[in-house]
Parts: sequence; C-alpha cells; structure tokens
Amino acid sequence: MASGAYLDHAATSPLRPEAREAMLPFLGERFGNPSGSHSVARSARSAVDETREVVAAALGADPSEIIFTGGGTEADNLAVLGAQRAIEGTAVCSAIEHDAVLESARTVPHRLVGVGENGVIDLDALAGALDEGVAVVSVMLANNEVGTIQPLDEVATLMRRRAPRAVLHTDAVQAICWLDVAELARRADLVSISAHKFGGPQGVGVLVVRGNKALTPVIHGGGQERGRRSGTHNVAGIVGLGAALSATVADRSAAVARVAALRDRLADGLLSSVEGCIENGDRQLKVAGNCHVRFEGVESEELLFLLDGSGVYASAGSACASGATEPSHVLSAMGLTAEQARSAVRLSLGWSSTGADVDAALAEVPAAVDRLRQATVGAGL
Ligand code: PLP
Repeated sequence: MASGAYLDHAATSPLRPEAREAMLPFLGERFGNPSGSHSVARSARSAVDETREVVAAALGADPSEIIFTGGGTEADNLAVLGAQRAIEGTAVCSAIEHDAVLESARTVPHRLVGVGENGVIDLDALAGALDEGVAVVSVMLANNEVGTIQPLDEVATLMRRRAPRAVLHTDAVQAICWLDVAELARRADLVSISAHKFGGPQGVGVLVVRGNKALTPVIHGGGQERGRRSGTHNVAGIVGLGAALSATVADRSAAVARVAALRDRLADGLLSSVEGCIENGDRQLKVAGNCHVRFEGVESEELLFLLDGSGVYASAGSACASGATEPSHVLSAMGLTAEQARSAVRLSLGWSSTGADVDAALAEVPAAVDRLRQATVGAGL
C-alpha cells in the first residue's frame, strides 16, 4: 500500500487481503478457460458460478441476472446502449452521471436532467424529460465527485408513470461501499458496480439485469454470459470481486460509522482551520467516504501537486477528468463557476482509511493552501 495518506478511494481503493488471497489460485494452477469442457476448464467455471451466486445474493438478484463485465465503464455502456438499442427510444440521464453513462447517452438521442446546488437530481425537470418515447433512464445511486445520494425510489415512481416503456439503470459504482444497494436499487432494472472501488481488482465489474430485460449486446464474440457479454471471463478478477464484495457487505454498517466519523473530522477540521474553505454538496446527503471542498483563490491542480509532494494523495473530482482543463461537469451542473470548480478537491476515504490519514491531511492541506496563497500575494496576483 502507498505510504502516506491515501485519500483517493473514489478513484480506486487498495486490494483487500481477502480478494488477493481468493485470486491467487486463479493466477496459478486454476488457470483454465471457464468456457471449456475438460476438468481444468470446469474448475475455473465452478469458481465463476459460485461467485455469481455470492454477487447475486449481495445485490438482491438472481444468479441468472448477473453479467460479469470488464469494469464499471463497460457495465454502464451495456446498460445505456444495450437498453436503448433493444427498446429504441431516447436515453434520459442526470447531468452529473459518470462519463461512462454520459458519453454513451451522447451517441444516441438523449436528454440530460439538471441537479440542484445540493448535487441532487431535479425531479420536476426529470418529470418534464420523461414520455412514452423514452427507452432508458439512468440515474446514479451516489455521485463520484461530491458523493450525493440520489432519490432512486422517486425516480422509479416517476419513470413508471411517465415513461412506461423505459428501463431504469442505476450506476451504483460509488454507492456499494456505503449503501444497501440490494434495497435501494431494488426498483432498478439495471445496476452497475465495479470491483476496484470496493477493494477488488481493477478491470472487472457487474451489470445486474433484473427480470433478464432485453439488452442488445455491445461486445460481440463467443457468446459468453448467455450471449450478453462475449469474451473469455477474467476468472481471477471475478473471484476477487466476489471476495471483496462479501467483505464489503459484511463490514458495511461498521465501515459507514467509522469512516463517516473520520470524514466529519476531516471536513470540519478543514472548514474551521482554513479561511475561504467551502464544502461542495450537502453533507447530510453524501456517502460516508466523501469529503469535497474548495479553497477560494487556490487552483486545485497546484494544491494537489504540493500535497502529493507531502504524501497526501487526493484528486480534483473524477480521476478520468484530471489533467483536463475543463471544469468538472458535476460542479458546473451544481451551479459553481468555472473558477470555483477549479478550486475544488475531493478527499475520499474507504476501507483502509485511518485516523492517521486524517491527521496528515489536516496538517498538510492548510499548510499547502497557505503556501499557494502566499505565493499569489508575493507575485502580486
Ligand atoms: N461510474 C462511476 C460512478 C465511477 O466513479 C466510475 C469510476 O470512476 C465508473 C463508473 C467507471 O468504472 P471503471 O473504472 O470500473 O471503468
């Protein structure tokens, strides 16, 4: 694990020991291709089948409703494009979805629905965007930048009433560590998760397809996953995902209490010790691991650079967007100006976070902000 304070769990979390241990045999003697028929293949297939049951139980689904994918991005693409192509109609999604959903929706007829300044979807605007021509509605369970939890039940009620042909997809990638996805997403037809956000390996995910709703595949080939997602299974990855998911669900209530207390200490500490520090998104509506703040007059990229040098690892919104000069689409949708959005940082906690990580951030962030402000004053800016 990285030494220093790793506060970027929303980008990726370290592998849980349970996952690493469960994966090892599949990187060694149980290397078979699960689509084959001899005993080496069958040994791999039994691991995939067992994991399918574990994942189904954790997500409140039937094993036949689980599709293993190559991560959250692929699960989101399959949900949005697979449903849109099968049903033929408009895709409707919130303006704060991950790019995996947004960029998929942008390739087909689509409508984006705005959010309030608290980072929660505007239900009146959603109602206005729904009609009989809608094929798929995609609203995430928890946002990846500001961590806000979306009212999926209300979304489902509106959708069933106003867009009866549509299926409901929820991207639960950032929710699974903190929320009972089986319960909160029970009315969603399609649910995406990604292993590396909860202590599993990178490059493996799941799409739940409730009631085995019709989906047009986006990846074509040998017909694995009952024709819905071709490609040789990533057996070690799938097994690691299952082990990490079991550990996550078993520890979840304790983790929420422990991590929310750490997050509150971090956010409150920054708000009280740094002048011009403002929290983004309503904390009461956020998942436990999210601390998202901005520092007036500070460029987040410069701040993150200084923090990296002092062993505090965080990010400016979504990892995929870092390095981009465009302000975050999530913060813009919440009404922040480009300048405000460029002064925001996300410090995200997870299963391995400790009080020492928070102590380090509370020491280093105020000092780094101070240094940047002094430099600005010194340069006469
Ligand atoms: N959806 C959300 C909400 C995410 O935060 C991410 C990753 O940042 C993804 C989808 C993409 O998942 P993956 O990295 O597994 O492709």
